[in-house]
Amino acid sequence: MSATTSHVIIVAGAGPAGMAVASSLAKAGHEVIILNRDTKFGGLAEYGIFPSKLKLRGGLKKQYWELLERPNVHYFGNVSIGNGKDLTVEEVRNLGASAVVFSIGAQGTKAIGVEGDSAKGVFHAKDVVYHFNRLPGFGDRPFDMGKHVGIIGAGDVMVDISHWLIRYKKVERVTAIVRRGPAERKYNPKEIRAVCANMDVDRITNEVARIKDRLSAVGQNADDILKGMTDEFTKCEPKVSETKMGFKFLASPKRILVDGNNRVRGLEMEENKLEPKGEDTVAVGLKQYYEFPCDAVIFAVGDKVDETVGLPYKSGLFITNPNKTGNDPDDALFQAYDETTGKVIDGVFLAGWARKASEGLVGIAKRDGDWCAEVVTRYLATKLQCNHSKVVLDKLKTILTDRKSHPVDVKNLRALEAAEKAHKGAIDCIGEFKYASNQEMIGLIERGNA
Ligand SMILES: Cc1cc2nc3c(=O)[nH]c(=O)nc-3n(C[C@H](O)[C@H](O)[C@H](O)COP(=O)(O)OP(=O)(O)OC[C@H]3O[C@@H](n4cnc5c(N)ncnc54)[C@H](O)[C@@H]3O)c2cc1C
Repeated sequence: MSATTSHVIIVAGAGPAGMAVASSLAKAGHEVIILNRDTKFGGLAEYGIFPSKLKLRGGLKKQYWELLERPNVHYFGNVSIGNGKDLTVEEVRNLGASAVVFSIGAQGTKAIGVEGDSAKGVFHAKDVVYHFNRLPGFGDRPFDMGKHVGIIGAGDVMVDISHWLIRYKKVERVTAIVRRGPAERKYNPKEIRAVCANMDVDRITNEVARIKDRLSAVGQNADDILKGMTDEFTKCEPKVSETKMGFKFLASPKRILVDGNNRVRGLEMEENKLEPKGEDTVAVGLKQYYEFPCDAVIFAVGDKVDETVGLPYKSGLFITNPNKTGNDPDDALFQAYDETTGKVIDGVFLAGWARKASEGLVGIAKRDGDWCAEVVTRYLATKLQCNHSKVVLDKLKTILTDRKSHPVDVKNLRALEAAEKAHKGAIDCIGEFKYASNQEMIGLIERGNA
């Protein structure tokens, strides 16, 4: 690509999707400006993936450092986009870049929507995950779990949280509460190895026997399903606590039960049955209720995007162009769309979990970023004029200075990393020391101590 066709692209969000977009476009010779809410890059690769997955985390970190050290990549950490934040969406669009990609993940939380959900001891899974990965704002807050924790969900996030409760909090009991049955469990069999040494197999056997008739009503054989499920409890990671883990199936939480201090004491649960739906099943409530005692409830039921950012939003997602273009990948899927005008928002794209909340692992988010970069490249080919990066960067820096923002660049990040490595502080469950507040990080950087 010649210098005259090199564009300035802004990528908002430095998680796996944003880093993939930035990498493709930087390698193609464009100037890429990355704006990231967190001081550190990586998104959920830094603050979501379970701490002990060192190989995955380390590999991603290495790739991201290589990208950020390219001369045509400009990183601004600790810069949040949204109304009342460091920059609004409109301000980002008006900086003069040829295109803006929003890869800001799915930062909203799905409303729990059951009575009592504001009680002490009720948590959203992402907040818990951010807490044990020490994301500033979460790492330094107490998350009191009590002895018996109920986790609503049957996916990998439920397993990760159970892992933390079993290995580090060493609670007495963890119960995964599942709307449908054991055949509809969603976690990856490899992931369950992290917790299977603590499975209370007798209880699980009794639980499956309890719902046997409701399974057979939809043609499911309880014995086969139980065998399939417990056969996956092999190659378990060594047991480090006496926590017992179990499941409650065909169960929907209806109400959080609280004590006199508004602290969780249990759940009111409704019994479900299964009904066939095409090849799949759905849970249908039986209007039979019972009390399930527990000290904390964690909802691990997926995320939605943050509707307060200022991008067009509907039903948990930012809106993309409904009019398919027929390209492969289809441009429409990545183009932000304004339903009030019925038009694509020129030059604004979405990628990763910001496009499809809670969709898949890092590999999927990366592929989404690669596809988005292809779509952006097609768009750039239609743009005749573009600004020099200095013009865009100067405008950005002026706004950030006026707002008294504290952007963090790659040099600052390197220094921060060295300071964390040299720190003798507690390493907690994450196997490394991490500053848990932005104040500490920014303070260190600005005093030149990092
Ligand atoms: C608990 C959990 C465990 C997981 N474990 C695994 C695993 O073991 N293996 C695996 O492959 N995948 C795992 N995943 C999935 C993986 O983390 C995601 O697929 C991936 O991180 C999504 O990438 P993303 O870039 O779309 O979003 P994110 O990773 O969420 O990145 C979003 C980025 O945007 C920034 N941002 C947010 N809001 C703003 C804003 N307003 N302005 C500016 N910047 C903003 C954030 O700072 C962040 O850097 C896990 C996910 C979760 C939730």
